[in-house]
Amino acid sequence: MSEQRSEISALGEFGLIDRLAEPFKIQHPDTVKGIGDDAAVIRCGDHLSLLSTDMLLEGVHFDLRYVPLQHLGYKAIAVNVSDIAAMNGKPGQVVVGLGISNRFSVEAVEELYAGIKAACQHYGVDLVGGDTTSSAVGLVLSIAVRGTVDSDKIAFRSGASANDILCVTGDLGAAYMGLQVLEREKEVFLSNPGTQPDLEKYSYLVGRQLKPEARMDIVHELEELKVVPTAMIDVSDGLASELLHIGRNSRCGVKIFEDKVPIDHQTFETAVEFKIDPITAALNGGEDYELLFTIKPADFEKLKNHADIHFIGHLHTAMDQNVMITKAGNTVALTAQGWNHFS
Ligand code: ADP
Ligand code: MG
Repeated sequence: MSEQRSEISALGEFGLIDRLAEPFKIQHPDTVKGIGDDAAVIRCGDHLSLLSTDMLLEGVHFDLRYVPLQHLGYKAIAVNVSDIAAMNGKPGQVVVGLGISNRFSVEAVEELYAGIKAACQHYGVDLVGGDTTSSAVGLVLSIAVRGTVDSDKIAFRSGASANDILCVTGDLGAAYMGLQVLEREKEVFLSNPGTQPDLEKYSYLVGRQLKPEARMDIVHELEELKVVPTAMIDVSDGLASELLHIGRNSRCGVKIFEDKVPIDHQTFETAVEFKIDPITAALNGGEDYELLFTIKPADFEKLKNHADIHFIGHLHTAMDQNVMITKAGNTVALTAQGWNHFS
């Protein structure tokens, strides 16, 4: 250990991962892709195995004062499956690491597992193991997922080239605005416990925050339409951050158009109510778990009428130019705020 002390916040999450990963070299020829994509890729006979893990911590990722345990269990599986979807793969098995204290009753843990079961059924995933331990710092859920993909269908973050079209599914910013609503209602409730929150008006947003879905439906539809994305990532940190990942890994610049970024009307109206620019919520709000992918221009015909796929821009050769053309026609630089857990 050197005497020097560097702050994690100075590196940020991705800088820290890069620094930790640097000394590790791949030793097995079967390890096709290690650190740096949504899932690790391991050759397994004539197909590829995918492996990914995501952890949810009480007080960091969720607040049990407004997150029902069943929803939490469901979400923990969905966000893991989402990383398999992001490789254009299909999930197979999960293992669940659980840290709990005696603050939780057996019934409470069963409730959590009812959500895990619902998600396992929904995504056709087997729960095949895990680990249970006591936790002194709140509830911890650490899940790993295994999936598979044919080697001619895999979508890395790095596979796109200039002129490929940037596509995003669903709509963006809703989960972030749902979180803002829940946080506000929590404050209101804490200062006046007699009040009941009226979340009806925000039901779509709250649902997107509490019960996100992995877009496995899109993975299946792309297969039916015979489209293999040239690159893909799931939107967990925010669209801007994911765009920059695809750009940097594919050694291209990205260009998107503000008016093409899909934003639900409830997200739009609620953002305005919270004095947040709706496009900021869409670009930098996290946890949408939509898929951001690129296609060859030749595949556009096959997808152009899809109701839930939006074409937001394209890649170009100038690697360091990542821009958005605003509704007013101005060019602004895309920067990733994402989620910096260490700031
Ligand atoms: P995602 O948002 O898709 O889950 P992350 O941004 O969390 O991906 O991680 C990016 C890459 O870094 C992934 O390949 C992940 O496996 C890897 N990674 C994250 N944390 C660590 C760690 N502590 N040690 C080694 N690899 C890590
Ligand atoms: Mg991911």
